[in-house]
Amino acid sequence: MKRKGQHFLLSAKARTISLKQVYTMGEDKAYEMFRSLRWPETEGEAVCPRCGCCDAYDIPTRRKFQCKACGHQFSVTSGTIFAARKLAFTDLLAAIVLFVNGAKGVSALQVSRDLDVQYKTAYVLCHKLREAMAKEQADAMLKGIVEIDGAYFGGHVRPENRKEDRRDRRLAVNQTGKRQCVVVMRERGGKALPFIVRHEGDAVPIVRDRVHTLATVHADEASSWDDLHAGWDTWRINHSQAYFEDGACTNQAESYFSRLRRMEVGTHHHIAGPYLNAYAGEAAWREDHRRRSNGDQAMLVAGAAMASRQSRRWAGYWQRAA
Ligand SMILES: [Zn+2]
Repeated sequence: MKRKGQHFLLSAKARTISLKQVYTMGEDKAYEMFRSLRWPETEGEAVCPRCGCCDAYDIPTRRKFQCKACGHQFSVTSGTIFAARKLAFTDLLAAIVLFVNGAKGVSALQVSRDLDVQYKTAYVLCHKLREAMAKEQADAMLKGIVEIDGAYFGGHVRPENRKEDRRDRRLAVNQTGKRQCVVVMRERGGKALPFIVRHEGDAVPIVRDRVHTLATVHADEASSWDDLHAGWDTWRINHSQAYFEDGACTNQAESYFSRLRRMEVGTHHHIAGPYLNAYAGEAAWREDHRRRSNGDQAMLVAGAAMASRQSRRWAGYWQRAA
């Protein structure tokens, strides 16, 4: 009998960073790391975010810099998604490690307990990490073979206790109107790009923007995908008959949804509404990088966060909400 290969996440290659390492490294080393992620082209030497000057006074006691050209004072996180951070650099790095380690997502409550930080802090931090992850997907175009599929999330209607009181939840009048459709376009061996629409069929114009016209598209038998034939070489698979037939399949898109569903059911319990987009993007990032070590993943997220501008949605979130 052929021995099945070890699951990637169980292999030593998948583990290249741990919380133990993060805290052993200490605050100074963690700070150095964030500096080199922020300013990779100068190997961690400060660059003024206001004027671009590479010459700055170092104020090591406060971990700040002052630009020699324009006098602007800044820190390693100024102007990035981590601007005005209050966490220590080790805690920030530990949060990123915890976050990438959760294959089906990590709840803010868990981060708050694991790092002993306020729930509010953990909540905003997790959303900032999702925002940094989403950067990678922003301008991506897909080519080659692209699988397309949709699945509905949110808007659950709890059935009434007594059978005679129950209504047909398939009818639009008996729904909450909060149900949303996540559509994913997934290039085989490439990226997964999710987006949110009301109904699956609304997705075709978006596919036009993100999938190269020479790509081959695979979709299921749902009539919402009939319009794809006009734009692309389109293969269809009838799931009531088979999951794979004549080379047509959407299994990669399905495995994306199985991860997103596990995130919903197993971690967040409810991920609808305005944040569905953020979680859908996170699931795509996790799919895209699932074969990389957790150390690589942590550096990708930390690097993307340090290259992201201050978050419009999440900067000072609780101050505004209060
Ligand atoms: Zn300057």
